[in-house]
Amino acid sequence: MSSGKIAAATALHMPKIGLGTLSISATEAKPAINGALSLGYRLIDCAPVYFNEKEIGDAFHEGATAVPREDMFITSKLACPFHRPEHVEPALRKTLNDLRVGYIDLFLIHWPVAFKYVDFDPNKRGWENEDIDDSDGGKNIDPSVSLRDTWAAMEALVDKGLVKYIGVANFPVMLLHDLLSYSRIPPAVNQVEIHPYNQQSKLLAYCKSRGITVQAYSPLGTRGYKEKDEPDILSDPVLNEIANAHKITVAQLSLQWSLQRGCHVVAKSSNTKHLEENLLVNYKNEFVSGAAQLSSDEMERIASLDRGYRFFRPEDWWKHMPVFD
Ligand code: NAP
Repeated sequence: MSSGKIAAATALHMPKIGLGTLSISATEAKPAINGALSLGYRLIDCAPVYFNEKEIGDAFHEGATAVPREDMFITSKLACPFHRPEHVEPALRKTLNDLRVGYIDLFLIHWPVAFKYVDFDPNKRGWENEDIDDSDGGKNIDPSVSLRDTWAAMEALVDKGLVKYIGVANFPVMLLHDLLSYSRIPPAVNQVEIHPYNQQSKLLAYCKSRGITVQAYSPLGTRGYKEKDEPDILSDPVLNEIANAHKITVAQLSLQWSLQRGCHVVAKSSNTKHLEENLLVNYKNEFVSGAAQLSSDEMERIASLDRGYRFFRPEDWWKHMPVFD
């Protein structure tokens, strides 16, 4: 990879903490977005498969908090049925139309797998069904579309000024390694599941070495989304002990731990207290001013909690995909 490519990837200006919008319902969208913007959130992480981009767009447009567009950082994602190169720009344009913006800051390939195309009306705002998401247990996977072709279409969006940065999500090292071999514009970001129970240290080290920013999703263990019998990070005794010692919450500790490992984070909340709490780590709390850091002992104790546990398991949803790891 040439050094020019690395420079292009590291020139990213992105807030360290963003608001996730998965599972924000259509009715919650407006208060959650307005609340977040007035608290100081500037990065909003969206996706068409969250089925709320239309309502988020209305919140951006009609919200009482008029944040200049250039001060915001809006992310969205290319859903799996639109990987074929000719569908990439129309899919983005539908998102732009739904979000009521002229460009987005970051466009990610949501998952490294193409589904068969699902027809849509680009002029109609919002999605009426969930065909673009679950794709029938994986029966609709389209094995004939390569990531290389999809990536070239993503690069064309940057050339046209429709997106500032392009990136990927849920990419393991080997796919990144391959992508870097042919990309003209390297991925600025890899958005992946990272929290104390799924630390992904090797992926983090690889991304760091290649100038790819890692953005941690589900940094709090996707509490409202997980199944009841799955582990709950916020109740972890070790995390509680460390958080108590610093008089912060476990959510704040988990975010601080991610930031201290060099990750950016997107955490979802539609609760004002939580929204505020999650930002405190970055803005008002002594940690971020640099006055306090988790000690290396504390970082090691948290490192020992890793159990490679993923809440998002595509192998469960797309059973017809032979291997996904
Ligand atoms: P998360 O941010 O780890 O957790 C969200 C859950 O934690 C919600 O139930 C929220 O409830 C609760 N919560 C938030 N702040 C809290 C606090 N301070 N104290 C206690 N509970 C708190 O999970 P996530 O939504 O899965 O991940 C974050 C974002 O990452 C998503 O919204 C989405 O934008 C992105 N994501 C991307 C992918 C991908 O494939 N690229 C996959 C998953 C997620 P309240 O609303 O009640 O606060």
